[in-house]
Parts: sequence; C-alpha cells; structure tokens
Amino acid sequence: MKREGQIIKALSGFYYVQCEDALVTCRARGKFRYKKITPLVGDRVAITVQEDGSGSLDEILPRRNAFQRPAVANIDQLVLIASGAIPVTDPFLLDRIISLAESKQCEPIVCINKWDLVPAEELFALYEQAGFTTLRVSAETGLGIEELRGLLAGKVSAFTGNSGVGKSSILNALEPDFRLATGEISEKLGRGRHTTRHVELFPVSGGLIADTPGFSAFDTDRGEHLEKDALAETFREFRPYLGQCRFVGCAHVKEKGCAVLAAKKERKISQSRHKSYVRLYEQAKEYKPWEKE
Ligand code: GDP
Ligand code: ZN
Repeated sequence: MKREGQIIKALSGFYYVQCEDALVTCRARGKFRYKKITPLVGDRVAITVQEDGSGSLDEILPRRNAFQRPAVANIDQLVLIASGAIPVTDPFLLDRIISLAESKQCEPIVCINKWDLVPAEELFALYEQAGFTTLRVSAETGLGIEELRGLLAGKVSAFTGNSGVGKSSILNALEPDFRLATGEISEKLGRGRHTTRHVELFPVSGGLIADTPGFSAFDTDRGEHLEKDALAETFREFRPYLGQCRFVGCAHVKEKGCAVLAAKKERKISQSRHKSYVRLYEQAKEYKPWEKE
C-alpha cells in the first residue's frame, strides 16, 4: 500500500515515518545508496507498506530546506532563545543565525527569556523593529509561554541559543514530559555518542520540535557559509533599499550613495543590525568557495 508521511526519527538504518494514522518503520530502497542521497529527519516521503506492517521508503518529496548540524529537513521556523540577563545574548550571535535561517526560507522567531529578571526592552525593540516575530517569556514564572505555544502549533520548529539562556527550561515549561522523554532516549543511546548527529521530531504544543535528545541546541555554527553577495538579502529590513544604491554591486559597508547606509542614518535600519552585517560580510570575504562541503 502506498502512503505518504514524514520521517520523525532515523536510527541504525531505519526510518520512522509518521503517516496520518500510523508510525511505519521503513528501510530505504537501494537507489538512495547508489545515488548517495541520505533521507533526513523532517523529510516528507512516499513509502510502501507491506502486509506485515513494515515499510520501504520509495521517494523523498521536495524539501523546503535542509540543515547540516543536526541533519534535518523542512524546518519551518527557528526559535532563537535569547536572554537579557546572564548570560546576556550578543545580538551578533542572533544575527548570524537569523541570516542563515533567512537564506533557507526558515522563519526566525526571537524569544527573549528570563523576563522575570530583566525587561530587555532594547533587545525586544531591536528585533521587533527589524520585522521579526519577537516575544518575551519567562520559563520561571510562565509569563509569555502561552504566546510561544501559539506560535509552535502546526509548525516544525527548532530551538537554538547559547548555553544557559533557558532552552531546556522553556521546553519543560511548554511540555513537562518533554525533557523526561528526551532524557531517557539520550540515556539509552549513551550520552555524547550520537549527540551531534542524532535528531528527532517531538510533538509539542500541536507542532513538532526538532531536538537532539538531551541537548536541545540547534547548532548552526559550523560548516555553513553564505556568499558575501547573498548576505544583504538575508537582512530583511535591508530589502526595500537593495537595488537603490548608486553603484551596482554596492557592498553596503561604507560606499558612497549607498541606500542601506542612508536608511541607517535615518534610523530605519539599526546600527546594531548593520554592524552585524558588516562583520558577516568581512567573514564571508575571507571564506574560500573551495572550502565548501
Ligand atoms: P539551556 O542551557 O539553554 O538549556 O538553559 P537551562 O534551561 O538549563 O537554564 C539555565 C539556567 O537559567 C538554569 O539555572 C535555569 O533555572 C535558569 N532559567 C531558565 N529560564 C529562566 C527564567 O525565565 N528566569 C529565571 N530567573 N531563570 C531561568
Ligand atoms: Zn549599498
């Protein structure tokens, strides 16, 4: 019987495909191996279910996006957990991940935790004005958690944020069983061994969350680079000005007649976001295309 579903877990050569009414354990057909295509957690797939209930994975349906670490596909939104209290989040870290998410048609959501400790008004205004869904929560008191829950429904999300900002606490506040479930899995697998590779989709608040059992950090740091010329497009508040600079190929760093710099002067683009852009631009210039994986 032919079915469609989504891979929610991949382990030891088996793919666990969630179909509308059943979870089917599948093996991939040989053609994927010859073609060197690896099915990813998050992939929407066509399968054939045998009489005995086992399945074979026939085809990967078109992907919205794919990430390398962890290896996962079709992430609708990346929830960036930030903190205005210790450890205070450096906006540059947010901007780098936002830029990567934007380049992959993955919607960034800025979620500032520890609201009970600090109002983080500046950080909140910075991202709200740049055009992102921005919210403040406290995993400690539960403030704002319902708003976050509403954003997760019906979507595949991944959480990211530097250690200590409260990712685990927020997931726990959303779903008290969540850490327990993922903690058990990581114990079974042996901590450390599968931690960077293994990823699963867990149902939370009417949506799915891509998580690395026991860790819950979505590591977008390494192995992924943007070309310098593609960078400005990934800063959404720059877009209205792109193509309006005096010179074609303007880098928007310090060029004369730059429309982005003019917008910054008029405070339509923040200093902080532009500073991150320049830093990423300088990094992208250093990056050699042959370093591409
Ligand atoms: P993770 O490394 O991002 O998963 O962060 P944790 O969830 O482990 O949280 C790090 C520390 O911050 C813990 O001591 C938490 O109790 C604390 N914490 C997390 N969220 C909040 C919050 O909203 N308010 C306060 N006051 N502390 C928090
Ligand atoms: Zn320019």
